[in-house]
Order: sequence, then structure tokens, then C-alpha cells
Amino acid sequence: MDAAQTEQALSGRTILAVFAHPDDESLACGGTLARLADAGVRVVLLCASRGENGSVSNPSLVAAGDLGHVRSGELREAARTLGIAEVLIYDHPDGDLRWADVPQFHDEIVAAIVRYQPDGVITFDDDGLYWHLDHIGVHERTYTAVRSLGADAPPLYYVTIPKGLMREVVEAAGGTAVKNAKFWGIDADAFGAAAKPATFVIDVRDWVSRKLAALSCHRTQMGPSHPLARLDAEQARQLLGHEHFRRAPTESRWESIIAQMGEPVPSA
Ligand SMILES: [Zn+2]
Repeated sequence: MDAAQTEQALSGRTILAVFAHPDDESLACGGTLARLADAGVRVVLLCASRGENGSVSNPSLVAAGDLGHVRSGELREAARTLGIAEVLIYDHPDGDLRWADVPQFHDEIVAAIVRYQPDGVITFDDDGLYWHLDHIGVHERTYTAVRSLGADAPPLYYVTIPKGLMREVVEAAGGTAVKNAKFWGIDADAFGAAAKPATFVIDVRDWVSRKLAALSCHRTQMGPSHPLARLDAEQARQLLGHEHFRRAPTESRWESIIAQMGEPVPSA
């Protein structure tokens, strides 16, 4: 199938993305979600929490003190930027997603799959991007929910950030000011350190500006000095132009539509 046929085959399909906090969707796979939306896919985002315990780039953005409320608004703005059709924000406790409300969250993911009948589900891999326990919890709940549907389940895809990429972002962002920059308090080298190799990548070079625009909607998370905010267009295209995935080991009798738009990664 050539690129045009693949985009045509995507039209009218549905993809469900399941993440932990507002901004995960843009950081992990904002380019892919925008590309899917532009191809006519109904993208549904399920966000487990409002991110109420996250960091704050500038306290004046949270004047009323309700970070969860502000971040929910930022998420809706980012979703509009990416073309996401529906955003479901749940109130599970930020920081405790691996252990809190386990049966309830499982049932909510199953219910979203039953309601939206997605052709594919995207979530974190088991490294949680950087061992973030909330991300790992969302990975676990989503895997279990998809598996519980047996062969009727849609194919499940795990998104990862490759090892070394965030270090390259810091270096490209340049200058001693950002040399030891952290991402939301996380060391750049933590990203992807435990990621399993991707099996396919999706070319999102033409959607990088939308990914960055969506990330910058998350103002409480990404101030102007953030390394991702300092990349110029060419650096961003080069560093963020491919998003990395692997198919989860779950059954599905359905064809794999996301993998069709990707390019296989040759195994090392
Ligand atoms: Zn997160």
C-alpha cells in the first residue's frame, strides 16, 4: 500500500490513546495523533488524571491554586491543536495511578473500547518513558483491559522515546544555560533508558510543528526556557520527526492500521 492508499484506508477509522497526565499525549506521540486526525481518523484520548501534582513552570498560571483544573484546560487546547476529536479526562489521583482505583480504571478503559470500537489503541510501553510509575500503571491497566477482550480486542501499540533522544534535544537546544536541563525534573538520559526497541516508526516530520504547538499549550509544564521550546524548526523536524512504536503481544483478529503507516525498524 502506498502512502496515499494508507491515508485513504485510515479515513473513518478510530484510534484510542490512553495516557496518564495532560501533556503525555503531545510528548509521546503528538505528531502521530495529528497525522491520524488529518487522515480522517477519529482520535479519542483517555487521560487518567488531571495532573494535579505535577510541576508548575510559572506559579502565576495557577493563581487559583487548582493545577488539575488548569491542566485539564491546557489538555483540551492541545487536543484541539492536534485534531483530537474527543477527550475523556478521569479523576484518578496523579502520582498514585499504579495502585489507585485499579478495577475502576480497568473498567473505564474497557468501556471506552466498547463504546468507541477503536481500530487500534496506543499507550505507554512498560518502561513508562522514564520509569514513571503513573505511566507504568497506565501501561498495565491498558494492557490488561485490551487483553480481557481476547481476539475481539483492537491491536495495541506501545509508544516509546528512544534512548539518547532527549539528550540530543538538550544539546541541540544549545548553550550552557540548558546543558544540564531537566525535563519536568527528569534527567534527559532517563528517557528511553529502559525502552524495548521499537519495531516501527511513524514519519511525522510534517506534523512536528503541530506537536510542538500542542506541547506549548501545556504552559504550566513547558515554559519558554524548556529545551523543547528552544529548538528551531529544522532541529525539531530532525529530532522529533519520527515517533517510535511496537505492537503489544496481544491477540487481535483485526488488521494493524497504525503499523501500515509506519516504516519497519530493521532489527539490530
Ligand atoms: Zn505523564
